[in-house]
Amino acid sequence: MADPKALYQEVILDHNRKPRNYGALADANHKAEGHNPLCGDHITLALRLDDDRVGVIAFEGESCAICKASASMLTTNVKGKTRDEAEVLIREFRDMATGQLDTATAAHHLGRLTVFSGVRDLPTRVKCAILPWHTLHAALNSAGETSTESDQDPMHAPIGDA
Ligand code: ZN
Repeated sequence: MADPKALYQEVILDHNRKPRNYGALADANHKAEGHNPLCGDHITLALRLDDDRVGVIAFEGESCAICKASASMLTTNVKGKTRDEAEVLIREFRDMATGQLDTATAAHHLGRLTVFSGVRDLPTRVKCAILPWHTLHAALNSAGETSTESDQDPMHAPIGDA
């Protein structure tokens, strides 16, 4: 079994060297901007829902390595999912990153995204990892813009009912 810390570093490095689905999306029908002023992360996430399913998705912006890797893995994991399935992943990722979901014992749909489970022990990085997911939530709900420091703090904002 691979050392979780080594795997985490390998995944972060890999997604920073080659971020997946990076760039603008001309024919998006859902889009949101996310800010994390504490770190300086600022990303735009755009996607196209076809019959309630994520057909294409892309992100761009300036962010730290953890935020970029999280956004990159988000796009590969959410593509092809329904809006409800995406909301489940958003909630599970947030709960994992904030330590409310123990992926070692509880049922979840996070798959390889569990490499981010270690951020719960790094309080300054939690928001970096969560920002893309909160931005996805804003995009799916046409909120347009979101910030980790707004009234709707992603650490506490309710996310869906699904
Ligand atoms: Zn960051």
